[in-house]
Amino acid sequence: MILVTGGAGYIGSHNVIALLDAGYDVVIFDNLELGHIETVQTLKSLDLKGKVVDFIQGDLKNFEDIKDVFSKHEIKAVIHFAAYSQVAESMKNPQKYYENNVEGTLNLLNAMVENSVKRIVFSSTAATYGEPVYTPIDENHPQNPINPYGETKLKIEKIMDEFDEKYGLKSVRLRYFNVAGADSLNRVGEWHDPETHLIPNILKSTFGGGKTFQMFGTDYKTIDGTCVRDYINVEDLANAHVKALNYLENGGKTNFFNLGTNTGNSVKEVFSVCEKVTGKKIPVDIQPRREGDPAILVADNTKAKNILGWIPQKTLEDSILSAYNWEKKLSK
Ligand code: UDP
Repeated sequence: MILVTGGAGYIGSHNVIALLDAGYDVVIFDNLELGHIETVQTLKSLDLKGKVVDFIQGDLKNFEDIKDVFSKHEIKAVIHFAAYSQVAESMKNPQKYYENNVEGTLNLLNAMVENSVKRIVFSSTAATYGEPVYTPIDENHPQNPINPYGETKLKIEKIMDEFDEKYGLKSVRLRYFNVAGADSLNRVGEWHDPETHLIPNILKSTFGGGKTFQMFGTDYKTIDGTCVRDYINVEDLANAHVKALNYLENGGKTNFFNLGTNTGNSVKEVFSVCEKVTGKKIPVDIQPRREGDPAILVADNTKAKNILGWIPQKTLEDSILSAYNWEKKLSK
């Protein structure tokens, strides 16, 4: 069985589906603070290839909670998503981030060592690189996070190296760029409250009662003045985790990979694809820059292609269309 922490959340839930599709049984561990019980119910009802989805509600900050999972299930490997991930919140309340993300992960790793579970795939982030020194960003780019969120993820990467040296615990750290889209069969999707991400915010503004979309910063040194990001589809991202798991199962060493598309899109470009997909003229409220946003973040994904054999398939339009279908479902 594969333990998925944070499996009731956005990226975790898509990964549960990818794991079931690949023939794994899954146990989800989630405290449901940010994840949703409705998502767990959907995942439990899927009956994909007769594979099992179990759910244990618990908090990584409580060592007893996570120990309990290992005593109830025979865990072969862990995919670890459970974390706080809001950059702005992490600047306001760093302690919350260190306690939850770093201490929570330490509890998880200690429980793994106690139970001789030696494989973990970890959701890291491009935020560990900080302000880009060059772009596209490959895995050799210096890691100098500029906010506590990125710091917590980098700290965990370092702890994982130490657990490999000391206990032979092998990790794959996947550094995500901007994750976008939803399940193409519309079973799960992005569901944050409040929502801070670009694509759902544009799409939400098209529904009755939605806030006017705010565009943060049009004076960056980029093709059209707005920030450029690398939007990676959540289903493509989920498949990378399955490949990372297979890599570890085949004896792969501790490693780290960027997950992105090698292509950047500006906020204005994303906005116009949203207008195209929705067929609506969307009002915009131009705002000053949002604090802490670098102008350009684009991945070099060559390493993941070469070593994991991972090639993202979906376009930005695919991501926006699936996200739109999901937003329609949420708005009902
Ligand atoms: N953005 C925006 N309006 C929003 C949300 C985001 O203009 O309501 C911009 C944001 O300033 C950044 C880009 O969209 O330039 C991507 O932001 P997002 O929060 O989706 O991801 P991040 O790059 O911060 O991880």
